[in-house]
Amino acid sequence: MSEGADHLAEVRRRIAEAAKAAGRQPADVTLVAVSKTHGPERVRELLEAGHRVFGENRVQEAQDKFPALKADYPDLELHLIGPLQTNKARDAVALFDVIESVDRERLAGVLAREMERAGRRPPCFIQVNTGEEEQKAGILPAELDGFVASCRDVHKLPVVGLMCIPPVDEEPALHFALLRKMAERNGLAKVSMGMSADYETAVRLGATHVRVGSALFGARH
Ligand SMILES: *Cc1c(COP(=O)(O)O)cnc(C)c1O
Repeated sequence: MSEGADHLAEVRRRIAEAAKAAGRQPADVTLVAVSKTHGPERVRELLEAGHRVFGENRVQEAQDKFPALKADYPDLELHLIGPLQTNKARDAVALFDVIESVDRERLAGVLAREMERAGRRPPCFIQVNTGEEEQKAGILPAELDGFVASCRDVHKLPVVGLMCIPPVDEEPALHFALLRKMAERNGLAKVSMGMSADYETAVRLGATHVRVGSALFGARH
């Protein structure tokens, strides 16, 4: 077994345990393997081990890495998890299967237009800045309900859930619980939360997607 396959088995085992402890089905949690900064050969290790869902935070890096991988594995599902500039929206709609970082009105409008143009509608998550951090992307909690309504009713975006990245120096559980509550309030079934350090906590608090990088691939270069 490759080292990647080894780590994958361990992370999957922990997700399953956390799910069961919370009375959830392990299959209801999707592991998004975050491969940013790692080469395609590392992604292939996980593909060969049967994994299919990956996350990248930059459009350009994903464009360099994933078209060839997708050609070999047509059922590969690629998530955009990083901030999206409007001038990259067209490329993002063409390449990604899920966009997790919709966070502002103008981007929602541009994405809607590009989806219409491309005839391709990748499901979207709205990123929420639950810690209200100035430097961090995401819509503020107080603006969320209005933004969800606008994405759905004005832009007709395929919004399926919410995503957050808690502040590094705070208890993530509070942010996860808040995100889940905001999703429920808005009738959204999916919540993307939890990274290498806290994905088990996120699963216990209802994550349907966890985004795990270093626990699978090791430290980033
Ligand atoms: C890099 C990244 C991750 C993965 O972080 P790890 O701590 O390595 O698991 C998850 N989500 C986002 C948005 C990221 O940019």
